[in-house]
Amino acid sequence: MRRMRNVKIVATLGPASSTYEVIRELHEAGADVFRLNMSHGTHEDIAARHAIIRQVERDLDSTIAILADLQGPKLRVGTFANGSEELEEGASFRLDTDDAPGDANRVQLPHPEIFQVLEPGASLLVNDGKIRLKVEQCGADFADCTVTVGGTISNRKGVNVPDVVLPVAALSDKDRKDLEFVCELGVDWLALSFVQRAEDVTEARDLARGRAAILSKIEKPAAVKAFNSILEVSDGIMVARGDLGVELPVQNVPPIQKRLTRICRAAAKPVIVATQMLESMIESPMPTRAEVSDVATAIYEGSDAIMLSAESAAGQYPIEAVTTMDNVAREVENDPNYRQIINAQRGAVRESVADAIVAAAREITETTDIKAICCYTQTGTTALLIARERPPVPILALSSQQVTARRLALSWGTNCVVTAELDRFKSAVVNAARAARKLGYAGPEDQIVVTAGVPFNTTGTTNILRVAPCDERLIFNTDPE
Ligand code: PGA
Ligand code: MN
Repeated sequence: MRRMRNVKIVATLGPASSTYEVIRELHEAGADVFRLNMSHGTHEDIAARHAIIRQVERDLDSTIAILADLQGPKLRVGTFANGSEELEEGASFRLDTDDAPGDANRVQLPHPEIFQVLEPGASLLVNDGKIRLKVEQCGADFADCTVTVGGTISNRKGVNVPDVVLPVAALSDKDRKDLEFVCELGVDWLALSFVQRAEDVTEARDLARGRAAILSKIEKPAAVKAFNSILEVSDGIMVARGDLGVELPVQNVPPIQKRLTRICRAAAKPVIVATQMLESMIESPMPTRAEVSDVATAIYEGSDAIMLSAESAAGQYPIEAVTTMDNVAREVENDPNYRQIINAQRGAVRESVADAIVAAAREITETTDIKAICCYTQTGTTALLIARERPPVPILALSSQQVTARRLALSWGTNCVVTAELDRFKSAVVNAARAARKLGYAGPEDQIVVTAGVPFNTTGTTNILRVAPCDERLIFNTDPE
């Protein structure tokens, strides 16, 4: 699908979006990547949605990325005899390891390892931070707390413990089973929830064994602190503002979002800004002005992708939510200020031949009338470097590897086409020109930039830049073999 924007849209699938018709319409409206949330739905549901996405991909001859989001070590309280209890501010409340049903005085927290790191003064946040508990006294199997912010607590509500690095495994047993299941199904990206340290990422990477690229969700203060080392071992990042805004004061989230977005671009790794982007559209066909502004800000800042969660998974207006993001993106990207901001943030990292070639490719498109940059890429690295340049013309990534093409669907401005393996430069140029014309990026009179590496089909060899006509006869008459 040809998009009239560069930022990508990730749409989470759920009960509101699990039929062929809705998924196809979401893709046509602008969703480039579909997120399967492993916290909800059975393996059967996940497999059914996966099959539909691949069917849509075939039917529309389009490239779609699938991102499977592992639940991660999410802490939850046990259950209550009455299903729920009201906690009053100032009251005492105990968390312990006893699996007896809870009441107004206590409930189980079935994670014994947490009690070992709790200290008096630590905060526990329940139900998205709506309830706050302060630890007064604690031991190996209990924590006596004071309710500092009251509210209704009910069965299996989530618990966040922001103040400490938790001694929990990066992947629960459920996560390991889910990981194996989705890798076998064939997903392009694996998102890891509640990453705390780089080792959490390498652990998942070892289990994935190259079957999926790894995206780390930054949603804990510890991950913000260890961000550079986490980024180093990740293929992409999600600024997971939902849990981040629970674990940190909400006003800390925008500066972190800005900082991480810039670091990711400099590292040429895709970054998704996620959560509550169009929250009101779960129930309303119109977004609020503030939401539109939030989406616009993420785009101005240069993020690779923006994400819908409940809006597309469980809301009443999934298609409208995608259309809204698409409309906002087009408007922002047509604003001269956008270009100025994007250009101003281009870091001058020039370390390799490929860095220099992609910079030259971008400069040529800024200097003359070029319609597209077509790049041959095996692993996707060259395409990521071009995306980092944020050129003013479309990027057409040509790869013989379908996995590469799909993974790139998450990256800014990258349109991916799977091509046959090529062994001659001339046929590579002809092939690029054909693809650019077929997809409507260029006409026969136009010119494109082609980057490639010879010898062909070896990774990391981008070493050619050709400004080529789109008219095949001209290429045949002029180009060397
Ligand atoms: P979630 O992650 O939707 O899986 O919780 C995103 C976030 O926390 O923002
Ligand atoms: Mn989260």
